[in-house]
Amino acid sequence: RRLSGPEERRLLELLAYGLVALGAASALLLRFVPMPYGRYSSPRFGWPLPARPAWALQELPSLLVPLGLAACGGAAAAAWPNRLLLGCFVVHYAHRALIFPLLIREGKPTPFFTFVLALLFCVYNGYLQGRSLSNYAEYPSGWLKDPRFITGFIGWLTGMAINIHSDHILRNLRKPGESGYKIPRGGMFEYVSGANFFGEILEWFGFALACCTVESLAFALCTLFILGSRAKQHHQWYLEKFEDYPKNRKIVIPFVY
Ligand code: NDP
Repeated sequence: RRLSGPEERRLLELLAYGLVALGAASALLLRFVPMPYGRYSSPRFGWPLPARPAWALQELPSLLVPLGLAACGGAAAAAWPNRLLLGCFVVHYAHRALIFPLLIREGKPTPFFTFVLALLFCVYNGYLQGRSLSNYAEYPSGWLKDPRFITGFIGWLTGMAINIHSDHILRNLRKPGESGYKIPRGGMFEYVSGANFFGEILEWFGFALACCTVESLAFALCTLFILGSRAKQHHQWYLEKFEDYPKNRKIVIPFVY
């Protein structure tokens, strides 16, 4: 039986709360076991998959599911605010699934377990954001001129630019053939160890402000929990590995944390 509108709305709300709970539980778990990929990659977490196809495949559902839902012509999909907000989500994941994997250099393999978790996350969140924006989010006329939309959109764009720029700095730390680690410098790395993660967190909080939906806020909080934990691990790892690591650098939020 197909879910009625109010039933699906309730389901989306429960899934949004579930996403926050998942993020909080992951942050707790990640205090003891670092997320096993990249520098913490380990054969204990399943067969090693080559990083490029793993990134592309695991992120693809967050691109394809919302596009499919919008193409099916949800009740709200034709409204301009909904189109633009779905566009923001899709642009991010078009970059993450199709461009980012081609740019990574000498990435460490992704363990199978990490790949499956990321894939499930992208299906879950792709459905949550895609369905909410194409079917249920309603905006008053003039929303595109509302300070919440404008500020949120600027936050999303700035965050994405910081994320891409910071990942670019990290990639260029290695010469062809190298696979070791160096101290990242320049851009937002002058302020925080997790500059790419700061960009991504800003991006999704900006998106949440522009959307004003419980689903988008849940995604922003989940990103904060997960990437905040990863940034903390990287920060401690740098401090242990490099004696000359800049002591004034914060973990992930410039000047604050
Ligand atoms: P990392 O910062 O751990 O690594 C990014 C890339 O840079 C990897 O190829 C890594 O190589 C390389 N690298 C990192 N630090 C150094 C260094 N000091 N010296 C040399 N090379 C380095 O980022 P993630 O892989 O965790 O994430 C990649 C992107 O995905 C980010 O933009 C992040 O925001 C996003 N992401 C988003 C999530 C979300 O919940 N929305 C979840 C996870 C990631 P190596 O692989 O060899 O370590």
